[in-house]
Amino acid sequence: MYIPELDEKRLDELRLEKELRSSLQQDCFYVDYQPKIHSVTKKMIGVEALARWIHPQKGVIPPSVFIPIAEKYGLINELEERVFKKICEHIKEWSDRLEFPFRVSVNISQLHFAHKNLYQFIKDTLTEFDIDARYLELEITESVMIMDDKYVIDQFSRIKQLGIEISMDDFGTGYSSLNYINKLPIDRIKIDKSFIDEIVTDQKFRSIIKTIVTMADYLELDVIAEGVEKEEQLTFLTSIDCFKIQGYFYSPPVQKEQISSFIYKQFKIA
Ligand code: C2E
Ligand code: CA
Ligand code: CA
Repeated sequence: MYIPELDEKRLDELRLEKELRSSLQQDCFYVDYQPKIHSVTKKMIGVEALARWIHPQKGVIPPSVFIPIAEKYGLINELEERVFKKICEHIKEWSDRLEFPFRVSVNISQLHFAHKNLYQFIKDTLTEFDIDARYLELEITESVMIMDDKYVIDQFSRIKQLGIEISMDDFGTGYSSLNYINKLPIDRIKIDKSFIDEIVTDQKFRSIIKTIVTMADYLELDVIAEGVEKEEQLTFLTSIDCFKIQGYFYSPPVQKEQISSFIYKQFKIA
């Protein structure tokens, strides 16, 4: 039987959705962590938690594939709740064992962020794992602003009241208004990799990044650059006082077990 390409894609997607559902029941997920480094002290200042799916046949599947499917088929809340609990378990372990606890950031989908249960879920999970909220940070993308203003502001404020920090992820790529920066209690902006990629080749991008860092400074927001891969990018970022760095230059995402060694490691690179 002839199947047009579109149907083929749709079938693939439906197959993945089915497999994602059963993987949720069997808990086939784990979390990697990518260090965030201060480029002057070379110390690890935090980590970003990144979810991975171990597919029974296909092996590890990246979040860029399964998160959109989870969002489309109503599985995102359940998936992120599971991932969040795993992360809290790790935070508890780190904060009990290690001398220098650090902040762990967790990506939350805009759909999950909109859900009224999120606040209570986070509050209950902090209690369940007995962890201090100051070890946690949420990373939310600008797309959250397509929702109702008042609801988003309330949700941000409630979560902030727990003592959790909030970062604006992929900054500069989404929502076209900067108005939300004034309205929302954000702690930090993450300059998107697409800007960092152009540092070496494009003066205009260097100017944009410098403007973002200056704006963050005036607004008393913390700023971190993500997707930093090259020494030239790091040199430029340091020259404009952007010292917090995440990217392959220092480290790709690594397994949880490797994180404790980063705490004591002084990065010798650069
Ligand atoms: P993100 O939040 O922008 O996370 C950074 C992504 O960039 C990660 O990809 C990381 O591995 C990659 N990356 C970091 N440094 C570099 C670099 O120097 N060069 C390059 N080429 N890539 C770098 P990953 O792990 O595949 O995650 C992709 C996206 O999936 C994340 O983008 C995040 O938006 C999303 N994601 C991961 N876990 C979750 C989750 O639990 N919930 C939600 N909603 N999204 C998640
Ligand atoms: Ca992120
Ligand atoms: Ca990002």
